Amino acid sequence: MLYLVEHFYSIQGEGIYTGVPSLFFRFGGCNMRCEGFGCIEILDNGIEIAGCDTLYAVDRHAFGASWQRIDTTAQLLEIMQSHTLPSDVDIVFTGGEPLLHADNPVLVAFVEYLISRHHRVTFETNGAVAVNFEKYPVYKSCVYALSIKLSNSGEPYSKRIRPDIFNAIIDNADESFFKFTVDAASLQKNLECEIDELLALAHKTEVSCMPQGGSKEEIESNTQAVIAYCKAKGFRYSDRLHIRIWDQNRGV
Ligand code: SF4
Repeated sequence: MLYLVEHFYSIQGEGIYTGVPSLFFRFGGCNMRCEGFGCIEILDNGIEIAGCDTLYAVDRHAFGASWQRIDTTAQLLEIMQSHTLPSDVDIVFTGGEPLLHADNPVLVAFVEYLISRHHRVTFETNGAVAVNFEKYPVYKSCVYALSIKLSNSGEPYSKRIRPDIFNAIIDNADESFFKFTVDAASLQKNLECEIDELLALAHKTEVSCMPQGGSKEEIESNTQAVIAYCKAKGFRYSDRLHIRIWDQNRGV
């Protein structure tokens, strides 16, 4: 059993496959909270809770009532068939932290089906949840967008920086890349050094950087600083196209 927060067919808004039509499955639950990102959700009872910009997919206690329970792979296939899709459309698993469900037979069978049908399957992960590539070799055929959390997430170092886990993904997967969300103010502090230190631990250093922000205005305010940083480091600049176009990050 796993929980699905939302599913939608859109274009990929971030990372190296920006612009590619993709069917998104956003699963509920995360091993982190990232209160440092400072996004606030106000619940029906007026209580404010803080976290990341997908807090509605992280906090089961606050938002779980609206999540859809998934018990079978057939349910995921039905959801997929409810969309009008090109035959080999990209599939993106996001969250929350989708790799929390990597051992779930419902997801394993779904990924095996997708790979057998030549879909590109991408996991958007924080890179701190291990994948059992020996037991589930199908995961070697997936793409991993490693969005390792930096100190601006507010999470402790030992929890967010797991070289053993992200290097196992890099070593086993057909494709992986790092994806960092940064803002102008953090770049002026020590975020650059943090990224350098992290990459020094990695077996591979393909990097995509994008501006932080949950709104078009915030994205705009960080864009130039991130572009300058990418130019200096030789990193790929990635926009956050879904926010730039729709000014929101739910269901788009
Ligand atoms: S790891 Fe990602 S989904 Fe989880 S709390 Fe942090 S930003 Fe949100």
